[in-house]
Amino acid sequence: MSVIKTNTDWEDSGFDCDHCGGEVSRRTDKETGLPDKVCFQCMQCGCQWTAAGSVQRVGHGRHCAKAARERAGTNPLTFLQSPRMRVLLSILLLLVLIRFGGFGVLRLLIPLALIGTIVYRIRRYGQERMWW
Ligand SMILES: [Zn+2]
Ligand SMILES: [Zn+2]
Repeated sequence: MSVIKTNTDWEDSGFDCDHCGGEVSRRTDKETGLPDKVCFQCMQCGCQWTAAGSVQRVGHGRHCAKAARERAGTNPLTFLQSPRMRVLLSILLLLVLIRFGGFGVLRLLIPLALIGTIVYRIRRYGQERMWW
């Protein structure tokens, strides 16, 4: 029978916590028979992040819960605001329209899309030149 050993390594990551300014360490959990688990942990407030940067555990600091809430609150919005997401959504919308409205909708949509693009371009152009 093999003995399961757990071992945690701490290493200075060189980052500072954006909640409390504490030192963030790279934590490697080693367990016999399992792949190493790497995450980042603030030594001061106890927040944990995955290697990819998403929050894994909210710490006990004063700002931690607030920061986590703000992050959760803005995430769906930034997700929808990403250009790739918008393109995907318009394609989906178009597919739904075609499915339920037939190709007649397309004939109506193309001029609308053209007008929309032109209006958008003019607006952007005006904004750059501070017309409004
Ligand atoms: Zn912290
Ligand atoms: Zn924190």
